[in-house]
Amino acid sequence: MADGALPGAEAMAEVLADVRRYLGWHRDVVGDEIHVSSEGALGAIAAAMSVEVTVEGSSSPPVVVEYREVSAEVTSRPIPATSPSTTAVAVPARSAAGAVPAPRAQRPAPVPALVPAAEPGVAGGSTEPPRLDEVRRTLGDCKRCKLCSGRKNLVFGVGNPKARLVFVGEGPGAEEDNQGIPFVGAAGQLLTKMIVAMGYGRDEVYICNVVKCRPPGNRNPEPDEIEACQPFLEAQLNAIRPSVIIALGKFAAQTLLRTDTPITRLRGQWREYVGIPLMPTFHPAYLLRNPAEKKSAWIDLQAVMARFPKAGS
Ligand code: URA
Repeated sequence: MADGALPGAEAMAEVLADVRRYLGWHRDVVGDEIHVSSEGALGAIAAAMSVEVTVEGSSSPPVVVEYREVSAEVTSRPIPATSPSTTAVAVPARSAAGAVPAPRAQRPAPVPALVPAAEPGVAGGSTEPPRLDEVRRTLGDCKRCKLCSGRKNLVFGVGNPKARLVFVGEGPGAEEDNQGIPFVGAAGQLLTKMIVAMGYGRDEVYICNVVKCRPPGNRNPEPDEIEACQPFLEAQLNAIRPSVIIALGKFAAQTLLRTDTPITRLRGQWREYVGIPLMPTFHPAYLLRNPAEKKSAWIDLQAVMARFPKAGS
């Protein structure tokens, strides 16, 4: 800064550039949560920077906020003069593709068929459920939905094919797509901690997703994509026949339970998936954005541990 004094607008631009760099760095390193100590200033900065910032909790620092880039038309909104405890400077999600799909009609109760009857080599007319490797073979170089065009790797599942405990997530993110392994990114690291806290190693449980290919830009999986993949998720569960399933987040819980009930109402309540006890809980990515909910998720995991204690513990 020349002589320590810049005209107001120039000085503000410099400050904003610094803050923008800081937010970008922070997002890359620790994800979508940032800590700030001034809600009012944050609202103004966010509006000027074309980002969405949601402030939660009291005004005492650190305040947890969510950070997202927003589209240009939103940035022309006036900067809020006050700083309520929740400051939404702009609302739309990062891309149109990330929009929450229209709610599905209430679907019928779970069907007992666990295998994709139309898939040769999986249903096969045999009374024996297919083995996991057979399910994988049948899935092959899958082109059954549009997600195939953007994927680097199909992410089938990982872990013990005879696991008592299966975790079902939503769909691969960037890191999972790169490695072909579910839950290896930031949310995966939290999931691994949750698994260890339950007394298991990742190799003792089985981890898979509702959709096996990464939705572009990490948008939500769409109904046709879920539908195309669902028989394979069901075949995986049929092959493993776990004692208990933990459904991570809305998509896993709603898909397996064939319901549109929000995850906030499903979580913590025992349900059944074709006779297998199922515990819906929050998705680790949601927990990273909402750390205060980790307590609820831990209560859900403890309920699983109480009902299905690990052998020898
Ligand atoms: N989120 C998911 O739902 N699944 C993954 O594999 C990674 C992140």
